[in-house]
Amino acid sequence: MDAAHAAMFTRSNVKKLRMPNIGSALQFEMMKMEILKPLLIAASDDNLTNLRFAKLFRTRRGNRRYLRDLMQKVDAQERNHLTQAICNHVIAPGRAPPFERKLKALDAKLTAEDWLRTALRANAIGMKLKITLRRPDDWHLHLRDGNMLRAILPYTSKHFARAIIMPNLVPPVVTSADAAGYRDRILGALPDGSKFEPLMTLYLTEQTDPDDVAAAHASGLIKAVKLYPSGATTNSASGVSHFDSVRPTLERMAEIGLPLCVHGEVTDSDIDIFDREAVFIDRVLDPIRRTTPGLRVVMEHITTSNAVDYARSQDETLGATITTHHLVINRNHILAGGIKPHYYCLPVAKREEHRLALRDAATSGEARFFLGTDSAPHTDANKLLPCGCAGCFTALNTMSILAQAFEEDGALDKLERFTSLNGPAFYDLPANEDTITLTKGDPVTYPSHVETPDGPVTVFDPGFDLNWRVE
Ligand SMILES: [Zn+2]
Repeated sequence: MDAAHAAMFTRSNVKKLRMPNIGSALQFEMMKMEILKPLLIAASDDNLTNLRFAKLFRTRRGNRRYLRDLMQKVDAQERNHLTQAICNHVIAPGRAPPFERKLKALDAKLTAEDWLRTALRANAIGMKLKITLRRPDDWHLHLRDGNMLRAILPYTSKHFARAIIMPNLVPPVVTSADAAGYRDRILGALPDGSKFEPLMTLYLTEQTDPDDVAAAHASGLIKAVKLYPSGATTNSASGVSHFDSVRPTLERMAEIGLPLCVHGEVTDSDIDIFDREAVFIDRVLDPIRRTTPGLRVVMEHITTSNAVDYARSQDETLGATITTHHLVINRNHILAGGIKPHYYCLPVAKREEHRLALRDAATSGEARFFLGTDSAPHTDANKLLPCGCAGCFTALNTMSILAQAFEEDGALDKLERFTSLNGPAFYDLPANEDTITLTKGDPVTYPSHVETPDGPVTVFDPGFDLNWRVE
């Protein structure tokens, strides 16, 4: 009963006992807690001491109904941590669905509050969360040629200002003349008004002429040279088998400050495919670094903690790109529960611990790590074969996926470094002046595939809802 009523009981045989938070129907609550009968017996035996009552009343700690009412009461007062403590207390011994539900909702709410604090720092306006970044660049991109080029280029040029264009066409882009022709075809395929700038590369072969490379660099035509170990990935048959034969070119590149982009996998058939990147670092990359001091090298599309560790062990002449899809999938996505050809790419996704190392690197903000999507369109007809092609097509939804991933890791404030600042700094180019804005709201849907004259190309499916859209 309430204090006003209690004050009316004043006789000497009245003993007042406090039962806070129990509500007004004391007798029913006590019956539910099964303490009314022992309490009455104790009173009639005249041994209802404060201690005896305290012991009886303590049973409320195990009483669901009492605890539920208490939880609702403190929850209504927005005392979130106390509500959490009560829920934890209740669900600890066993199943208690209403408490578990409340706890889950509360967890989400607290996470949302934490997120909100981050977002406010990241320029959230009102309840519409948005972040504005310098326009991103893609430091590793496959645009193909012909029909495919014209069909897929607009998806990259819509969000990205520049991209390092991979030279593995058929035949490959090996000379400055090849690169000039390819650049013109790319510029010709751009949508009207687009300011997208293709950053061209040459495909390093054992016949590459160091003078041609130097001239292409001096004229501003190329921004890097690409090393494919022979047979490492799509159209890499012209790649390098004997590294001594490319040494003069590498030495010239070190002199003139032209970066070498490296597909970092050995191709020896006796090396397990999941080990090829780590072995490449030991057998090829580290020796090149030692014998060609000053050469700027980009370890492309790194997939292992070994590569992350190696990158961190080196000076500022070594950079590393990370793809969108390697931040999202591990090898289970490709192989568990049926084979998923659209998750197959090279280097192949590795164990979860490696994916987590990549996430840590990408979201660290460290200058040596930057985005190279390796977005690589193949038609479904070429993916869904007994020997299907390697590559994930992420040009459409990369920025949505990255915002989602960085938000999940509490690192939205590092997204701009990864997509827009670290790459230009490595390549000694200015960061883009214009910006893009991402807003968070209802789930964004991207098409499952895009049509091209060569056939449909499946868009990478991250396997989770995307709430960030590029405005
Ligand atoms: Zn690639």
